[in-house]
Amino acid sequence: MSEPLWIQGGRIIDPANSRDEEADLFALDGKIVETLSEGERSTARKIDASGQIVCPGFIDLHSHFREPGQSQKETIRSGSLAAAAGGYTTVVIMPDVSPPADNAGVIQYILDAVAKHACVNILVTGCMTQGRAGDNLAPIGSLKKTGVVAITDSPDSPQNNEIMRRTLEYAGMFDLLIMEQGRDRSLTEGATMHEGATSLRLGLHGSPRAAEDLSVSRATVLAALTGARVHLQCISSGSAVDMIRRAKSRGLKVTAEVTPHHLSLTDETMASYDPRYKTNPPLREEWDRQALIEGLLDGTIDCIASDHEPHVDYEKDVEFDLAPFGVIGLETALPICMATLVRGDAAELTDLVRFLSTNPARILELDKGHLSPGAEADVTVFDPDEKWVVDPDTMESLSANSPWLGEELRGKATHVAVKGNLVLQRDS
Ligand SMILES: [Zn+2]
Repeated sequence: MSEPLWIQGGRIIDPANSRDEEADLFALDGKIVETLSEGERSTARKIDASGQIVCPGFIDLHSHFREPGQSQKETIRSGSLAAAAGGYTTVVIMPDVSPPADNAGVIQYILDAVAKHACVNILVTGCMTQGRAGDNLAPIGSLKKTGVVAITDSPDSPQNNEIMRRTLEYAGMFDLLIMEQGRDRSLTEGATMHEGATSLRLGLHGSPRAAEDLSVSRATVLAALTGARVHLQCISSGSAVDMIRRAKSRGLKVTAEVTPHHLSLTDETMASYDPRYKTNPPLREEWDRQALIEGLLDGTIDCIASDHEPHVDYEKDVEFDLAPFGVIGLETALPICMATLVRGDAAELTDLVRFLSTNPARILELDKGHLSPGAEADVTVFDPDEKWVVDPDTMESLSANSPWLGEELRGKATHVAVKGNLVLQRDS
């Protein structure tokens, strides 16, 4: 049983309850409560949140932890600590571990490791296809029974349309969300970055927007055919944003996410030939970046997800062509979004909380992402102005493949509670 929690004098931002005011927040027995009795107040853990934001804990729909299989990159424990440091109270992890999470045995192994080692809520996904090979369906019913919240072959997707159609049909039967990070592989073969003027100038092989657009188009066509719920991961193409807008206007059950790095960086960063900017999908052009921000603000893109993809130094520290794709993101999402959206005058703080907490909860149909009395006390307190340097020695992730390594960022979580228990406390 957690001690009573009394978060004092912060600015409470709770978009689900249209709340933005300076007030105290209380938790008792792991739940948000309207107030505490005198006796409970005398024993409560008090947090001075003056000058800070108090909001529902962030929920990440897209992280890759590497346990089992590649625990040198990230374990359930280190990934959950990185999440807490970034202000996250819930993280959905992808099934691309080794062996792949395509059967109940591996799922149960991961769930056991989560129960033993995780300090935040970790929700587990299962593969769409056996071995994530795209050929034969995984046992979707048994994955659902074991406790997955979605199925996905992320960061891949079946290339065969019939397999994809059947995946959506089966997932629909079990009312399971599909998370789709698609690309037409015939158009991305050998590519290391976005295809455009910059790739031409740098002499690097690029993959066109069309690779992503074709797969987003397929997903919306098959969502219409099957009625399944499809969540589109890592949208990076401006033209894909338009397709999703049209799909939503037709009432399809389609949702979408964008990453902090696609919101803030472009393919121009590739001029450094630094593998820390090598991502899948690739960083695209300024036009795409603006379209992503516009899509987020008009509700076409529902939320921001980290796509936290840890790789150790010796893997990234190689020739550009050979380096793996992906960046870590759990510990930097908040300050990057603050800089790009809030200080960039594109969005208010309340929008940011919607993108990082309220909307991800809605997509997963979780009773989270709000601070209503009776809700589980998953709460993040952050200082929007705290300056800190991205330094692997002080970060929780086992990997350091951040595009912002060595840079000074602004905005950091100071306290994070999961079911009323403080899993991060940085009292100044
Ligand atoms: Zn990913």
